[in-house]
Amino acid sequence: MSRYVIVGAGEAGLRAARALREAGQDDVVLLGGEPHPPYERPPLSKPDADGAFHRPIAIDLSGVDVRLGAVVEALDRAAGRVHLADGSVIGYDRLLLATGARPRRLAADPDGVALTLRTLADATAIHGRARPGGRAVIVGAGLIGLELAATLRLAGMDVTVLEAGPRALARGVPAEIADTIVARHRAEGVRIAVDQRIEAVTADGVRLADGLVLPADLVVAAVGVVPDVRLAEAAGLACDNGIRVDARLATDDPAIFAAGDCAAVDHPRYGRVRFESWRSACDQGAFAGRAMAGAPDRFAALPWFWSDHYDLGLQAVGLHDPARAAVRRELADGAVLRFELDGDGRLAAAAGIGPGTAIARDVRLAEMLIDKAARLPADALADPGIALKALLRGA
Ligand SMILES: Cc1cc2nc3c(=O)[nH]c(=O)nc-3n(C[C@H](O)[C@H](O)[C@H](O)COP(=O)(O)OP(=O)(O)OC[C@H]3O[C@@H](n4cnc5c(N)ncnc54)[C@H](O)[C@@H]3O)c2cc1C
Repeated sequence: MSRYVIVGAGEAGLRAARALREAGQDDVVLLGGEPHPPYERPPLSKPDADGAFHRPIAIDLSGVDVRLGAVVEALDRAAGRVHLADGSVIGYDRLLLATGARPRRLAADPDGVALTLRTLADATAIHGRARPGGRAVIVGAGLIGLELAATLRLAGMDVTVLEAGPRALARGVPAEIADTIVARHRAEGVRIAVDQRIEAVTADGVRLADGLVLPADLVVAAVGVVPDVRLAEAAGLACDNGIRVDARLATDDPAIFAAGDCAAVDHPRYGRVRFESWRSACDQGAFAGRAMAGAPDRFAALPWFWSDHYDLGLQAVGLHDPARAAVRRELADGAVLRFELDGDGRLAAAAGIGPGTAIARDVRLAEMLIDKAARLPADALADPGIALKALLRGA
């Protein structure tokens, strides 16, 4: 029987462990560097209605040797072993790197005065400082920065979001949908300023390049993440904005796989790509587990993500490309769907925004249409009277 070792007890690592157990493997070791039992990251920026941001990952890990607070310091590929910070050494036949990503830091904040939001410890620090009437400055108007802005605003804080680029949510969210989210934040009283240059973050607030000082009780840098490739790189594995893996999620060492936010995947639809979303981490983790156990396959799952702001829910499937032809469909309750067609009239991506989960079913149907490579007439896509289910039946 082979021994499977997984480094990283996040979504990808846990799904891989489960998939290996389901494939009949009974020597599976899961090494999690954080001290807590595995938890979901999405609620860290958007707590449940009762304010809870700590939600354990509900996956059956029976039969898995789970070790927490187990930080892997180095890989010894020649010997097939991992070295842990506590001095212990574990041998492997197959290894999965599911090391996730780390928050980027601000160049203007070399001492790390601004908090970041990736871990439970980060969330505990941030939410612990939320006070009605307190002033929060969030640097970065991406999904996590704006989700956190909504949460802090709902907690009664005065919130300013500073964005270096010309618009909010520039990565992966169509401008039209980003505008809806930004308008909602402004209606709630959040200030969002674009094209901002930060000169320094101090204990008292943020100083901008134009000399303006924004006093703050809480400063959070939400300026993206970098894939955690440290172990892979030190072990000589190919890395390029992530650990490079083939369509089976194997690295250039056939005994070592990578999955989730740390992996740059060779995707049949998109070429080399790295996703940073919950479902991709789950899909890749489960796939990697099966592939490590020998299932011949090709990772081709479509990327999908969601994001919540107040009562507005965004979902998107496929990779957004502003250059594609777009079709808009307006639904009841102010919800909107936006479809992107490629040059052949095939559905390539879709996104929707609306109250709660109003657009969830349609985005799911759009995903099936993308999967089918369906050619769809723009006027039918725009017409809310024509159910997407009917288009799917005819596709
Ligand atoms: C605040 C927040 C909100 C989010 N909201 C959404 C959302 O609404 N929708 C969405 O689609 N996605 C969302 N995401 C993204 C999603 O959570 C991530 O894409 C997903 O968690 C990635 O899973 P992963 O397993 O690849 O990595 P991670 O969850 O980062 O897990 C990697 C684990 O590996 C451990 N590790 C790293 N190095 C070592 C080592 N050397 N030894 C041992 N352990 C190690 C780390 O400590 C970490 O626990 C959010 C992310 C954050 C941070």
